[in-house]
Amino acid sequence: MARVYNWQLGREMSYWYAGNRPKRQFAAVFDVNKCIACQTCTLACKTTWTSGRGQEYMFWNNVETKPYGFYPTAWDLKLLDMLGTQNWKGDRYEGQTIFEAAPAGERVLAHRPMEQDYSNPNLGEDDAYGTVNKGHYFLPPHATWMFYLARICNHCTYPACLASCPRGAIYKRPEDGIVLIDQSRCHGYQECVRACPYKKTFFNPTTGTSEKCIACFPKVEQGLVPQCFENCIGKIRMQGWLNTPDQADPDNPMDYLVHIRKLALPLYPQFGLEPNIYYIPPIHTPDEFNVQLFGPGAPNAVREYMKARSDKTLAGLLGLFGCSVKTVASFAIKGDHAYAYDDAKSETVSVPIVEPIHIRPEFDPAREVVRHNTP
Ligand code: SF4
Ligand code: SF4
Repeated sequence: MARVYNWQLGREMSYWYAGNRPKRQFAAVFDVNKCIACQTCTLACKTTWTSGRGQEYMFWNNVETKPYGFYPTAWDLKLLDMLGTQNWKGDRYEGQTIFEAAPAGERVLAHRPMEQDYSNPNLGEDDAYGTVNKGHYFLPPHATWMFYLARICNHCTYPACLASCPRGAIYKRPEDGIVLIDQSRCHGYQECVRACPYKKTFFNPTTGTSEKCIACFPKVEQGLVPQCFENCIGKIRMQGWLNTPDQADPDNPMDYLVHIRKLALPLYPQFGLEPNIYYIPPIHTPDEFNVQLFGPGAPNAVREYMKARSDKTLAGLLGLFGCSVKTVASFAIKGDHAYAYDDAKSETVSVPIVEPIHIRPEFDPAREVVRHNTP
């Protein structure tokens, strides 16, 4: 095995191939706190890519309610259990990754979901942890919590799907880091289905090959965001390009949120894949749960997020989420507006940092009506 540097773990780790980072890396930030689980993203993806025969059960994008929701069932719980203790010492991961914990003769520590694990795509929907006390229905703080976790393939820097494929059918594109399965090479051994800890490759029994999220690369190549981003009702998503921490650019929104402000965190970094979808963690969830999902930076990320309203740069950048069909390559704050730019540095959209509020008069003499939507 080669030794590669995984910055999310703060250390080197073992991987099956030598490190070979792409020219630039497809990445995204999801603001968990804004997701309403409308599943528009799920259906936008399904109607675009997985409406064919053999794809009925596939959800390249899914949204599950944590802590009790999964697709497939218990995908993360099973692996967390197999991996054992996952200790962090500061920002350094002291436990084993799924590559380091692989049993003799196997490439990764993994489990293969059973057919019935795919039979309940929205198991646990809206189930909350804890009991709701009378009088505590909506007002935090309270001991009852849940949140919606939107998931796609993480287009990992060290993909387990790629490492496990005996046919060499899975590749990471050097130009943008998107991970794809070459359908002409795949023989349907399903090692990737077993190996991906996020369970984001799926076997198609009709074609006899495995399939996965392709990050809508035909759109991304044109500077456009993927379907699940463009259609997101809650405007929770922003897509861009992520540099390594030593090359963080403060004008790049991904670098700013991930490296500079450390507000957006990877999902289960301890698995060791250096996933490239980042999450602003939920604010009403116990620290311990957030740390297990998003690593040791989660409590600080929540604290910083709570202060965003009084932070012009952060408030402006968060306001740009979901506001353009174009990839946000860079951003700027000028006066009371936030601006997004594409790869060619052309402005694609601007938003006011503070949304203006217009209160209409209760009585409108022009139309001779009394309005009910006034204070
Ligand atoms: S999330 Fe899974 S399918 Fe996607 S690149 Fe990583 S290991 Fe492969
Ligand atoms: S479309 Fe956006 S808000 Fe709706 S479920 Fe998907 S991620 Fe959440």
